[in-house]
Amino acid sequence: MPRECKVAPRRTPVLPPCWRCDGLFLWRSRDGALHCTSCEPARAHYLIAERLRAVPGSLTASERAIGFLTAKLKDRQDAAAEPIVVAAKRAGIAPATLTRARWKLGFRSVKTRQGWCWVRRQ
Ligand SMILES: [Zn+2]
Repeated sequence: MPRECKVAPRRTPVLPPCWRCDGLFLWRSRDGALHCTSCEPARAHYLIAERLRAVPGSLTASERAIGFLTAKLKDRQDAAAEPIVVAAKRAGIAPATLTRARWKLGFRSVKTRQGWCWVRRQ
């Protein structure tokens, strides 16, 4: 695979690749959210507000973990830890990296009768 030049034009924001597949082809929907062309193809052409290219190799393990958790937690106030931890392991995210990403997103771990739960700090 040919490497792309890392020098982007000044006005273009530097976008990290997709956290799931390292994909470089992204699209922005009309609500402003970024999507990966291969993981989340647009269901219809009119959903695409803008097509974007990411910069290869710019995604750190921490950014990848934050992308993963943001997609998992969305706007939720709490979530069961277990399924997310399992999915993160499958996605190749180290437990320590996942914990740091969770802190960064403001979730603390709480022990409940059903097991560990992640709760958003108020
Ligand atoms: Zn992707």
